[in-house]
Amino acid sequence: MKKIPELFGSMVFNEAVMKERLPKDVYKALKCTIRRGTALDAQIAGVVANAMKDWAIEKGVTHFTHWFQPMTGITAEKHDAFISPSADGTVIMEFSGKELIKGEPDASSFPSGGLRATFEARGYTAWDPTSYAFIKDDTLCIPTAFCSYTGEILDKKTPLLRSMEAISKQACRVLRLFGKDVARVTTTVGPEQEYFLIDKEDYKKRPDLILTGRTLFGAPSPKGQELEDHYFGTIRPRVKAFMKDLNEELWKLGISAKTEHNEVAPCQHELAPIFATANIATDHNQLTMEILKKVAERHGFVCLLHEKPFEGVNGSGKHNNWSISTDRGENLLDPGTTPADNAQFLLFLAAVIKAVDEYQDLLRISVASAGNDHRLGANEAPPAVVSMYVGDELAAVIDSLVSGSSYASCGEKMMDIGVCTLPAIPQDNSDRNRTSPFAFTGNKFEFRMPGSSFNIACTNVMLNTAVADSLMAFAAELEAAEDFDAALSALIRRELAAHRRIIFNGNGYSPEWPVEAERRGLLNLRATPEAVVHYTDAKNVALFARHGIYTEQEMRSRQEISLEEYCKVIRIEARTSLNMLKKQIIPAGVAWSREMAEGVALKKRIGVSAPAEAAMVQQITDKTAELSALTEALEAAVDGAPSGLEACAMYAHETVIPAMEAARKAADALELMVDKKVWPLPTYADMLFYV
Ligand code: ADP
Ligand code: MG
Repeated sequence: MKKIPELFGSMVFNEAVMKERLPKDVYKALKCTIRRGTALDAQIAGVVANAMKDWAIEKGVTHFTHWFQPMTGITAEKHDAFISPSADGTVIMEFSGKELIKGEPDASSFPSGGLRATFEARGYTAWDPTSYAFIKDDTLCIPTAFCSYTGEILDKKTPLLRSMEAISKQACRVLRLFGKDVARVTTTVGPEQEYFLIDKEDYKKRPDLILTGRTLFGAPSPKGQELEDHYFGTIRPRVKAFMKDLNEELWKLGISAKTEHNEVAPCQHELAPIFATANIATDHNQLTMEILKKVAERHGFVCLLHEKPFEGVNGSGKHNNWSISTDRGENLLDPGTTPADNAQFLLFLAAVIKAVDEYQDLLRISVASAGNDHRLGANEAPPAVVSMYVGDELAAVIDSLVSGSSYASCGEKMMDIGVCTLPAIPQDNSDRNRTSPFAFTGNKFEFRMPGSSFNIACTNVMLNTAVADSLMAFAAELEAAEDFDAALSALIRRELAAHRRIIFNGNGYSPEWPVEAERRGLLNLRATPEAVVHYTDAKNVALFARHGIYTEQEMRSRQEISLEEYCKVIRIEARTSLNMLKKQIIPAGVAWSREMAEGVALKKRIGVSAPAEAAMVQQITDKTAELSALTEALEAAVDGAPSGLEACAMYAHETVIPAMEAARKAADALELMVDKKVWPLPTYADMLFYV
């Protein structure tokens, strides 16, 4: 292996490569585009494209692709060779500025939620110079945004870039009031990724894992996660070898994989990178998920990114660590050490608190999926109620500000904005509240609801836009104020008082919390179909329109895509269940009871009575009959789905899923009655405790 600094970013057309390979003026212009978001001139694009091509060819690359993030949540690519024919029958290797800037994939089969009629199938991809081009599988990948020809957005990157612009604009306005002339503010994100690794041989024997990503059947393993001996445990050598390989692949792509450890569930692990801008972090996380799967294959594993691959053990999430930072590197969620810094911090903190309270629904919707429904509200994950944890110190500060009571760290005086210095806010892990969906962790917020398989773009679009909206209102009020300090104090107090109901520092997993949350008027949107229908509520449509992120039509299309995906996922799961029940599980019950019955008959013939075995034959036969009836009921449930997306999604949630669960319960009971040698599926113990 090369030394890490040499390896790191070796497959990325990053600033160092640009500087080395581009003429000075071109490099400067490109850098300006990257930093400031200014438009790039076509001629300059031509020079950049050529340099990219030469660099890539030296590394054995033959093709290029526009790499984009359609609404499927995964990434898409269509490869084109660099070759261009010459008159003499030979080819030359070409890559033009036009090809770099714009692509025209036939987009008819991507979900568009009715935005794009199939006769107008064309869409185009546009280069996003703020995320570096990179080489993957001998192909030069150009990160791009994806739009329809009529300008509607069809991807996850475009709204993210727009939301980053929106928050930058409003944050700069606010900072100007504090006498700071800042050109650009970016949101930073560090997504921690959880995943499971299982043996490929087990995976291959499980149609449910292959078709749905999760086990639809499986009795609990005699040992699960109750000993908590996996969390931070020694990483077994086979997994360590995988992680080493994984890190190298990620580092080559400039992805700063930093932390790795075993998670709570057996064979569950976590990977955390060093944070980057929201845009780059999103691209990198998409790549990370792809590479996790690829590298796992090479090591005889399969990487499961589903939110709940195994019932009864922890599911996988993705913690979205989020902050806002100026182009001079000032973290705006860092409390600071002077009273003036504190006042600014408190204003940004109030902006986030207001945003999360007012747009709880959007945050919840951004993490809604059939897979994540198994997690949110279950024991190990944050509940489906969105609330914020700010820690005891900040909670005391907020109390003092709102109620005017005395505050100890301030010399028993009332907390006064711009006069009193905040106490040091601990950033260590020890006292963090792990049960909160949205926790302040010293200088950033950690949003813990996203599922492990999610594209984090949506969550960050919601966060950026909602916070931009708070900042816009704050800026307008403070710009008009005659006495800035007085207006600032009044505003912070008022907003904290108005939105303090969203703050909850207690145990989010306790049964009392949802009751208390309801009393406070917080939303508890338990399942995807209940949540997603609120996406296009008037206040949400108005929010995105105000900041130029989505049109109402684009939002309706996204809502439709989400509901449709939910219906399809449940339908696939139900059909896979039916298939396994009819072709594997029921036949196993029949075969085993028959084999035992033959044994009982044989014994009887030679005068041996075997009443226990005869009773077992009866039990297995009864269980198989019960299962057979439940299978029929499931089939009827699948066939009875109503038309209309909303109705179909609610029906899937209320009727199909319970029918699947009932059949599963009986199948899992049968598993425990049947000889392992006739049971057609690897068991939970096999999969979770492989060697
Ligand atoms: P823990 O598991 O205790 O939450 P980790 O170290 O696993 O902590 O993950 C913390 C994540 O937060 C890392 O990805 C880190 O880069 C990220 N992070 C740290 N500071 C910021 C910041 N200012 N903005 C966004 N993410 C941040
Ligand atoms: Mg964390």
